[in-house]
Amino acid sequence: MAIDLHVHSSVSDGTDTPTRLVLAAVEAGLTVIALTDHDTFDGLHEAAEAAKRVGLEVLGGVEISCEREGVSVHLVAYGCDPTYRPLLDELARIRGDRRERIVAMVGRLVALGLDITIEDVAAQAAQATSIGRPHVADALVAKGYVADRAEAFDRFLHEGGPAYVPRYACELERAIRLVHRAKGVAVIAHPWGRGSRHVLPAEYLEHLARDLELDGIEVEHPDHDAATRALLTELGYRTGLIRTGVSDYHGTGKSDTRLGLNTTRASGYSEILKRIRQRGGVVPA
Ligand code: AMP
Ligand code: MN
Ligand code: MN
Ligand code: MN
Repeated sequence: MAIDLHVHSSVSDGTDTPTRLVLAAVEAGLTVIALTDHDTFDGLHEAAEAAKRVGLEVLGGVEISCEREGVSVHLVAYGCDPTYRPLLDELARIRGDRRERIVAMVGRLVALGLDITIEDVAAQAAQATSIGRPHVADALVAKGYVADRAEAFDRFLHEGGPAYVPRYACELERAIRLVHRAKGVAVIAHPWGRGSRHVLPAEYLEHLARDLELDGIEVEHPDHDAATRALLTELGYRTGLIRTGVSDYHGTGKSDTRLGLNTTRASGYSEILKRIRQRGGVVPA
């Protein structure tokens, strides 16, 4: 089995449609993927239909935009009941603020003298129901201001950058509780990637494991170096947290990864499925 539990489609900021993503996963030799678009379940139906045709196993997921003490943290959830209203309402709130924030960011770019409109961004986000900074980046590429998404982030869009505007995110512990009430499994995405280690120190992850029954942490992720992976492996082993390996694939939108770059062991995946079943959530067809 080759299992990749964190990938994005064009329903959020990936560049492959859910159908194309499923085909690409088969081509890459994967047997299981979890579709984890940012703050939306909208790609799951199309991905499941495509998966049936080619015999891939697709676990339904979502990557929820969270915050701890005002700092951005991502929570990946698997197997949630996609009709559970409190979670749907929270995701809708995040997506609504994503839209307003993008309008404000376009305003910043115009104030900086760039010729760009919200329509330019909407054209790039054509299939996305969850709009984000990468779509602004794509509009800047289309207009010839930058060569790629990375340059757009470096020059304009990074946190604290000249066009940056913050947005609403769900408080992390509340998100973990929402996922469990939705009968799903909660895994912290890239806990120690890109300088986020100070937000989620080991003692705090231990608290989440013990007192909130957090299910797991991503260990093998492109944003974690070898030393970080070793420390998180030890932490997971000590606390009983499930350890996953993921690519965080975004199609052509993220150059430091590819489908199946990191994979999750079969034992970790079966523990995730077992917990989803115990809670009454949704496992792959
Ligand atoms: P947002 O959710 O709108 O705040 O945008 C964050 C998303 O931008 C992340 O999920 C990544 O996919 C993408 N991203 C962040 N930093 C970069 C970067 N330096 N280059 C390309 N994409 C990035
Ligand atoms: Mn993304
Ligand atoms: Mn993330
Ligand atoms: Mn992601």
